[in-house]
Amino acid sequence: MYPRLVIDLKKVTHNTRTLVQRAGDRGIGVYGVTKVHCGHPGITAAMVAGGIAGIADSRMENLEALKDFGLPRILLRLPMVSEAARVVANADISLNSELVTVQALGREAAAKGRTHGVILMIDLGDLREGIEPDKVHETVPEILKTDGIEFVGIGVNLTCYGGVIPDKTNLGELAAIAGDIEATYGITLQVVSGGNSSSLYLLEEGLPKGINNLRLGEAIVLGRETKEGEAIAGTYQDAFILEAQIIELKEKDSYPRGTIGMDAFGNHPTYVDKGRMKRAIVAIGRQDVVPESLIPCDPGIEIIGASSDHMILDVTGSQETCRVGDVLSFRLAYGALLALSTSPYVEKTTLDEQR
Ligand SMILES: *Cc1c(COP(=O)(O)O)cnc(C)c1O
Repeated sequence: MYPRLVIDLKKVTHNTRTLVQRAGDRGIGVYGVTKVHCGHPGITAAMVAGGIAGIADSRMENLEALKDFGLPRILLRLPMVSEAARVVANADISLNSELVTVQALGREAAAKGRTHGVILMIDLGDLREGIEPDKVHETVPEILKTDGIEFVGIGVNLTCYGGVIPDKTNLGELAAIAGDIEATYGITLQVVSGGNSSSLYLLEEGLPKGINNLRLGEAIVLGRETKEGEAIAGTYQDAFILEAQIIELKEKDSYPRGTIGMDAFGNHPTYVDKGRMKRAIVAIGRQDVVPESLIPCDPGIEIIGASSDHMILDVTGSQETCRVGDVLSFRLAYGALLALSTSPYVEKTTLDEQR
């Protein structure tokens, strides 16, 4: 069945193991982030086989499906107050920045006779989640005195909204805040989490002392660091391949005929007249994928557009002769993998032990 996402689990395990070892050599534990594949159990198992220290996801639905791995489960997105009971039941730890939420989690945990772990997020300039550094000493004592809550550590998220790059200055600030908290309150923080795949490049130069955790998603599944989008040496970039089938193949004009108004998404498109071209339509569209984040495996093929259910390709320069019914392959960037994983119209096929 097509379209399908073909997942090479051995490559996922290899990528995970490579990164877990590199981080481990420098005293850094890795939470494996599963949200980009919607908490797929087989892919998660491949990440677990590679040695991740915890399973991290932004959605409770995914964490609930991943309860049988015997690893701590970490909720990455700040919990909604309305899901506090769910979070306490199916996540060991959550990232937090709001005291009202921590208190709601504490009430639910205490009522069930459990403890829920909290990592306090610090905003060091990327302007997504986290308290500002000058609020640390009004927040930490409140967390420490909340029944049902264990203060597990602190963390930062960068390069997500603001595009701010992790460096020795901002991560040094995180490490200093951790040291200050430990000294002031006489506690030891189990987790000082220095960010996501964009922090990986600092492993080589050395993360500031005191940081002992990273939360890695894209680096594991796509073998790319996310500061510059570079491939990570020694990892695979093609553990995930999209296959889509050609449903029309014709020589047509490259420039539309008629008066051009809006396209299906309300944009006013512009076109370059390249004369006649060999055009293929494959059966996949914007409902399933972000075409801009697909890379045809055949370098002679170019993606020229897509509507909800049709993706149009210029196959004039393709290396193979294309026919209707042929299946074309694409490598993925993050946005494409996220959408494909989420689309129920895309079959997920795993390659594993058979090879
Ligand atoms: C998504 C996410 C990550 C993982 O990011 P990658 O770039 O895929 O490594 C880490 N932390 C938080 C809070 C996230 O939301």
